Amino acid sequence: LLKGKRALVTGSTSGIGLAVARALHAEGAAVILNGLGNEDEIAQLQVELAADFNGANLLDPSAIETMMTEIGAIDILVNNAGMQYVSPVEDFPTDKWDAIMALNLSAPFHTTRLAVPAMKEKGWGRIINTASAHSLTASPFKSAYNASKHGIAGFTKTIALELAQTGVTANCISPGYVWTPLIEGQIPDTMAARGLSRDEVINDVLLAKQPTKKFVQPDEIGALAVFLCREEAGNVTGANWSIDGGWTAG
Ligand code: NAD
Repeated sequence: LLKGKRALVTGSTSGIGLAVARALHAEGAAVILNGLGNEDEIAQLQVELAADFNGANLLDPSAIETMMTEIGAIDILVNNAGMQYVSPVEDFPTDKWDAIMALNLSAPFHTTRLAVPAMKEKGWGRIINTASAHSLTASPFKSAYNASKHGIAGFTKTIALELAQTGVTANCISPGYVWTPLIEGQIPDTMAARGLSRDEVINDVLLAKQPTKKFVQPDEIGALAVFLCREEAGNVTGANWSIDGGWTAG
């Protein structure tokens, strides 16, 4: 399906980005991985996915410029790298605010502005931004994250309009709680801290807002990303695709 297409997936050394990279690779795309992490593990992923790797730190706009020059023209851009920090607004560390804005919002702006000219020239492109249920709704203590995710949703709509007649689409994918090693690792600590069973932690704490009471699986996000890359999705642009077990329906 995606043979001959080159795809950059930011933050693809773990979690959702890795699942998206795997799904695009399975459809024949040539994938370029990006992210932080253990060198050996990244080398292994490169072999598994026959992928190139660029370790640019996306907090730094000049590193992004260098990466985009090094990798050359791409057909598919998945802006996925992101970070979170939880604190009341009056105590929110200003450096954390700046870093979250830089990674979750400004990095996608830089990759997009640098990828778009080649996509326009080819008359085909796909830009997919991993937003969040928090691009549509808010939870307390996540001011920077929620602002950045609402921001990426607005950015995505804007570029979708700008690119509407060029063959390039731009959409958000907005997951609820996704089953990743990070979430799994929090369960024992939360059980201990709150004196709850594993099921209580999952249903009443982690999935309190997710009506299906099921975590989203990373490969479900991969499947949605593949759909957005299909020819049949050429008229799907400017959309914010919830994959959140009904969270934002409530
Ligand atoms: P993760 O922590 O497993 O992966 C984050 C990726 O980003 C990693 O590959 C990491 O190396 C990379 N990264 C971090 N800082 C970087 C930097 N400065 N430069 C380059 N790469 C960097 O997280 P995840 O859960 O897979 O999250 C991926 C995206 O999905 C994020 O944008 C996140 O906000 C969003 N999201 C996650 C969930 C969830 O439940 N896990 C829910 C909604 C949205």
